[in-house]
Amino acid sequence: MKEENALWDTLIDSKTLLNGHAHEELGDDHFFTGGLETPMKPGAFEKSDEEKKEIIALLFAQIMDTLGLDLNDDSLRGTPKRVAKMYIEEIFSGLDPKNKPKVALFDNKYQYNQMLVEKDITFYSNCEHHFVPIIGKAHVAYISSGKVIGLSKLNRMVQYYAKRPQVQERLTNQIGVELQKLLDTEDVAVIIDAKHLCVSSRGVQDDTSATVTSFYGGKFNSAEKIAELQHYLKN
Ligand SMILES: [Zn+2]
Repeated sequence: MKEENALWDTLIDSKTLLNGHAHEELGDDHFFTGGLETPMKPGAFEKSDEEKKEIIALLFAQIMDTLGLDLNDDSLRGTPKRVAKMYIEEIFSGLDPKNKPKVALFDNKYQYNQMLVEKDITFYSNCEHHFVPIIGKAHVAYISSGKVIGLSKLNRMVQYYAKRPQVQERLTNQIGVELQKLLDTEDVAVIIDAKHLCVSSRGVQDDTSATVTSFYGGKFNSAEKIAELQHYLKN
């Protein structure tokens, strides 16, 4: 097993130290040093979705088998394929750029030039350190530079980036930078308030804490604009 699998090296790597701490331990602390992009390997999309589902189903069957579960049981038999389908078509579908929402821009005919806030966008993501859910609300705001997008597209863009293994900081920044590009303006804000099940259901088992992250671009980098935004979010 060890000899034939090149991935084994990455497991050994995960035990090496970063600033004196084992990577496993740091993952538990949701330590984030990464950049804007989700770390993907070269050739990540060479396999078809069907091929990926087959491989994942087989590997997930091995996990279940290793745990000692009886895959001949009627209730468990379909689980590996169900999990594989769910990973590729649903909860990790945002890894594949082909699933990125197509967004049409419209002219800002109403000449509305104040901030627009789309709040309480519920999303489900998954922590990349533990592969358990992150459940939260995203609030997105922008000030039009002359172009506007349909409100549902703000929601869809949040969902697209949420459907990846994530860390909350990166998710926040990815949504912010994407909307800046789309709307052709720096004036974008994203606030995410989320609960990490790896914190509430395991580890320190804190059931009440939530994590808040924010992205403020352009005009949102002022105490006045932030206060205005916070005011809308309160009501
Ligand atoms: Zn986690």
